[in-house]
Formats: sequence, structure tokens, C-alpha cells
Amino acid sequence: LFISLEGIDGAGKSTQLQTVVDVLRAANRQVMLTREPGGTEIGEKIRELLLHETMRPATEALLMFAARQEHVLRVIEPALLGGTDVVCDRFTAATLAYQGGGKGIPTERLEALARWVHPGLCPDCIILIDVPPEVAAQRLEQTRQRDRFEQESVDFFARVRANYLQQAASSPEKWRVIDGTQTPEAVQKTITGYLNKVLQE
Ligand code: C5P
Repeated sequence: LFISLEGIDGAGKSTQLQTVVDVLRAANRQVMLTREPGGTEIGEKIRELLLHETMRPATEALLMFAARQEHVLRVIEPALLGGTDVVCDRFTAATLAYQGGGKGIPTERLEALARWVHPGLCPDCIILIDVPPEVAAQRLEQTRQRDRFEQESVDFFARVRANYLQQAASSPEKWRVIDGTQTPEAVQKTITGYLNKVLQE
């Protein structure tokens, strides 16, 4: 299984990644947890650039896919081939949402890059932890350090969120949208129930 977790900054995604891993491990599956941008040595270097340097949206999108190329070829595909489940903190859906919805890069361009970088590879399920941007902003207020992306406006995150929801609506069989304004325990319960159902399929 290839599962990715998505959500705007402050949605509570990081907290729930472990839930996904725990549910799969409890079902006796081999699991690898990884993240984007990142997941490889080159990918982590690209991540540093992305988080700390100012750049054009197109540069950003291309770097995301450069990091992804390494990640897919060196980490994700080998793991899946070896029968290990891959849980990924963000994948291509995030690039469509952030660089597409948020920053206005045309979707067709990003989709063309996706076809180039990972033809035929798409997560089996994509879990979207959905919160209104105002709620996310309030949560981020409480954390001390923010990276370059987390300083974006509520407006920006509203566009990112809208794009995520649009992607989810266009392939409901792959996506599961979870209300992230619930308590962490409630979100955890929903994710657990959903994954246990997926495992039975
Ligand atoms: O999910 P995580 O917090 O690790 O992501 C790091 C930063 O990169 C976030 O602030 C996220 O908004 C940003 N990002 C992005 N475009 C992507 C993936 C992540 O702007 N495609």
C-alpha cells in the first residue's frame, strides 16, 4: 500500500502520520514512513532550499519534482516492490495544491511533470486532514518557528485548501477527507476506522 497524508500547514498532519503507521504495523505489515519534499539525501538538501530560500513559483515546482524523482526511484518504488507499505507525508497532491492552487502554476504543467517523474505511480489512498485556514493559522500562532511557506496568508491557504478539496472530489475512491477541527483523538479514531476498512478490501 502507498498512502499519503495531506493538509494545509497547521492541519495536524504530523500528529496523525504516526496513527497511520501504527494501524498498519498492528496489522503485521512492514511499513516505511517518509516525507516530501525530502526522503533522500538529495531530497533533504532540496527541502532546505525550498524552506529557506526565496524563489519563483516555477522554480519551487521544479525543485519539488526534482526531489520527488529521487524519492520515487530510490525509496518509494523499491519499498513497494519489496512488499513494504509506504506512508508519505505529502506527495504530488501537495504540489498541485500549493504550487498550483496556491501559487497559480497551471495544473496541466504540474500534471505533465507528474507523468514524467512517476508514470503509473499514485498513492492507493490519500488522507486529507481538512481544516479551515483560520483554524490552521491559529494553531501555527502557537508554534514558535515558521518556515517560508508557513508565513503565507490565510488567503493563500484558502486556495490551497480549495484545490485539495477539488482533487478529493474528483477522485473520491482514492481520497478520504477527514475533519481536522475535531480533537486529535477523534481524528485518530476516524483514520483507524478508515484504514482498517482499506486493509479488508
Ligand atoms: O509538511 P511539511 O510541513 O513538512 O512541509 C514543509 C513545507 O513545505 C510546508 O510549509 C509546506 O507548506 C511546504 N510545501 C509546499 N509545497 C509542497 C510541499 C510542501 O509548499 N508541494
